[in-house]
Amino acid sequence: MSNTLEGKTVLVTGASSGIGQATALALSKAGARVAIGARRADRLKDLAQDAPGEILALDLDVTDRQSVQDAVTATVDHFGTLDALVNNAGVMLSGMILNADTTEWTRMVDTNLLGSMYTVHAALPHLLESKGAVVQISSTSGRTASAGGGVYAATKFGITAFAEALRQEVTTQGVRVIVVEPGMVSTELATHITDPAMQTMAKNYAESMRTLQADDIAAAVLYALSQPEHVAVNEILIRPTDQAR
Ligand code: NDP
Repeated sequence: MSNTLEGKTVLVTGASSGIGQATALALSKAGARVAIGARRADRLKDLAQDAPGEILALDLDVTDRQSVQDAVTATVDHFGTLDALVNNAGVMLSGMILNADTTEWTRMVDTNLLGSMYTVHAALPHLLESKGAVVQISSTSGRTASAGGGVYAATKFGITAFAEALRQEVTTQGVRVIVVEPGMVSTELATHITDPAMQTMAKNYAESMRTLQADDIAAAVLYALSQPEHVAVNEILIRPTDQAR
């Protein structure tokens, strides 16, 4: 992948809101052809209307291996190639371990960890062909775990581990692997937390600082994807200035 995004094909998972939506829009503004996947088709339709470039909206549930394979196939069928994958879809259902609803653990592992692994699995043959790039949206929780965030952190630590193995397997074949680790970003992510105490804690935490905006992360993704071919930006950690941990 060369250092201009003009005409490049990028698949963004979880593009219906937050970081994925901002990244897809920024890529489109930079001249990329963008396939956008998520479950909320109405949101994708709105994004397709707002984006200046060519957009392919795809029904995608990353927990479903067939849906992931179909999205990658549809992207390559439509655009003829795949130059980059932005593996962004994720859920954060914070809660203490004691008495946890373990179906929420399953959802997080299925979406954040297995989902992003399925997407790499389906996309990799095409990325090897295009000498493309994989951007894995991890988190500061992929570096430091904290009470109430054990399972979410486990998925993000897992993403980082998987990305490092992937990097070693493909970098000398020209495929670059980039892990982006945002701190607190103002999005819908925390609104899905079901535990009221955790929900309040997340809200108070966000209100205690000037959080990042989804556009700040989109800019980092664009920076990494716009480097010359011999430059692999492997990791980007971005916290709000006000976030101490
Ligand atoms: P949002 O809740 O705004 O976005 C999450 C996106 O993931 C949505 O587009 C959602 O789409 C999609 N998604 C969820 N489940 C699935 C699924 N099964 N299949 C396909 N898409 C799915 O939150 P963010 O933008 O904040 O989150 C994006 C990523 O950034 C996540 O991986 C998150 O962990 C990470 N992150 C966020 C931080 C923050 O502070 N906000 C900090 C660090 C990392 P839909 O529901 O339509 O399917």
